[in-house]
Amino acid sequence: MICYDLHSHSIASDGSLSPSDLVSRAIEQGVDVLALTDHDGTEGIIEARAAAKNTLLSLISGVEVSATWGGTTIHIVGLNIDIDNLKLQQGLKSMRDIRVGRAEEIARKLEKAGIPGAFEGAQKYASEIMLGRVHFAKFLVEHGHAKSIADVFKRYLVRNKPGYVAGHWADLADAVNWITSAGGQAIIAHPARYKMTATKLRRLITDFKTAGGIGFEVVSGRQQHPEEIKKLARLANDAELFASCGSDFHSPENNWVELGRLSQMPESCTPIWTSFTEQLSL
Ligand code: AMP
Ligand code: MN
Ligand code: MN
Ligand code: MN
Repeated sequence: MICYDLHSHSIASDGSLSPSDLVSRAIEQGVDVLALTDHDGTEGIIEARAAAKNTLLSLISGVEVSATWGGTTIHIVGLNIDIDNLKLQQGLKSMRDIRVGRAEEIARKLEKAGIPGAFEGAQKYASEIMLGRVHFAKFLVEHGHAKSIADVFKRYLVRNKPGYVAGHWADLADAVNWITSAGGQAIIAHPARYKMTATKLRRLITDFKTAGGIGFEVVSGRQQHPEEIKKLARLANDAELFASCGSDFHSPENNWVELGRLSQMPESCTPIWTSFTEQLSL
């Protein structure tokens, strides 16, 4: 059976492996088809593609776009995108600019809380192109303000904590549009993580489909209760969305999420790859 992992990160966003190391690890873990989906940028794709060349791994060019819908931050994964598409790249650049402004604000807030130098500190961990909360988390751990990245998120970087700044990301319709304009498939990433009621999730799906989205990430790498997978499969099927699966791998240190280690997709689902078989030479 072909092993698909359609959601992963490299140092081009907030992952900790280079794109080539990510590809090597995916091969070691038995992944046949890997999508590199860095946050708001595609800078890792060329290296990943080169690393996958002459191996048995098929590399899918992907991205994970930050969007805001109904006041909630949601993530839209795009697969099989043309990374040279101008509209997509302009959109992604605008998200990275928002990230810089947000990072400055996070640093100001942390300074008020008695932690100076966080902007430069976070930048040290980031590639030149994308600055995210994980980079702040690494800085805060390094300086002894928390014992782990998960601990930083709990104590500093979420709502009602000293370093929290709400991001104002792309409109859902724009995020989807950038992906589809670049020839890609748009997928709602890790839907359970938004903690929405089923009713709200259905409303999100309606708006997402109106914008041209076609996929729903039913299977994710974090420990998912089988009931959650069933529920997400039902939502996808009811809405006639293709189902996707991805580990959302970020780093080997985070040992509860591994590349390719995914629960099986329920048989009732229509896998997203049935929508892109022509693009892959499997
Ligand atoms: P950002 O897009 O910069 O707001 O950061 C979002 C990223 O932070 C996610 O993609 C994860 O990589 C990471 N993240 C979010 N929540 C947590 C958490 N509780 N523990 C560890 N990493 C997290
Ligand atoms: Mn991330
Ligand atoms: Mn995400
Ligand atoms: Mn992700």
